[in-house]
Amino acid sequence: MEVLNLTGEEMLDLLGAVEIVNFREAITNRADNYDIAFVEGSITRESEIPRLQQIREQAKIVVALGSCACIGGVNCLKNHLTMNQALQMVYGDSAKYYDTILARPISAVIRVDYYVRNCPPITSEFLKVVKALLLGRKPEIPSYPVCTECKVAGNICVFELGKTCLGPVTRAGCKAICVTGGRHCWGCRGLVDEPNINSEEEILKKYGLTVEQVVEKFKIYNTYSEVMR
Ligand code: SF4
Ligand code: SF4
Repeated sequence: MEVLNLTGEEMLDLLGAVEIVNFREAITNRADNYDIAFVEGSITRESEIPRLQQIREQAKIVVALGSCACIGGVNCLKNHLTMNQALQMVYGDSAKYYDTILARPISAVIRVDYYVRNCPPITSEFLKVVKALLLGRKPEIPSYPVCTECKVAGNICVFELGKTCLGPVTRAGCKAICVTGGRHCWGCRGLVDEPNINSEEEILKKYGLTVEQVVEKFKIYNTYSEVMR
């Protein structure tokens, strides 16, 4: 849906550069002759696994689009329950008609070439990745933490205000939009490469906060990550 939110000019540029052959929310065609597949959403049902494997076989390049596809995202919160509990909670008496499995990012099922992170994905980053792929280049995605962008944005660190934040261990690229908007980072872009967990703990200690407080926040998007397992 974020792709459909592109400005008119951006959309025209995109349509001039690629041929869209399968896009459930936007067109009725269902052709499977694509070279690049953008896959959104996490895997939550057994039947999605062969479908995803089929996409991998067809596409030369697979890109995970959005937090759920990239890191499992909020759907993985159900992994803290048994699958029966999750089904009962959502479908009640009708639970027997549905199936569900532990939620997981698409990289848990197939090889993923590139990632467009964030919840929701940022359209400018999506376009940057499309452009790089069309030029045959590897898309450049920041490998430093959100704190770097937060400082550049001139924000007061929320730790100074007695709150917790996942900025020190989260991959940048969003320009620390949540902190700039008066909140804190929830970690929707997933962990930065080689996250300095010890440093996050040091920061928590310095501000008299507990690891439990940050772990609760971490669960929202990063239940599937190694750190949570
Ligand atoms: S508010 Fe969060 S992202 Fe910003 S500097 Fe502090 S810890 Fe880092
Ligand atoms: S500040 Fe954190 S939660 Fe907000 S968009 Fe950036 S990575 Fe996601």
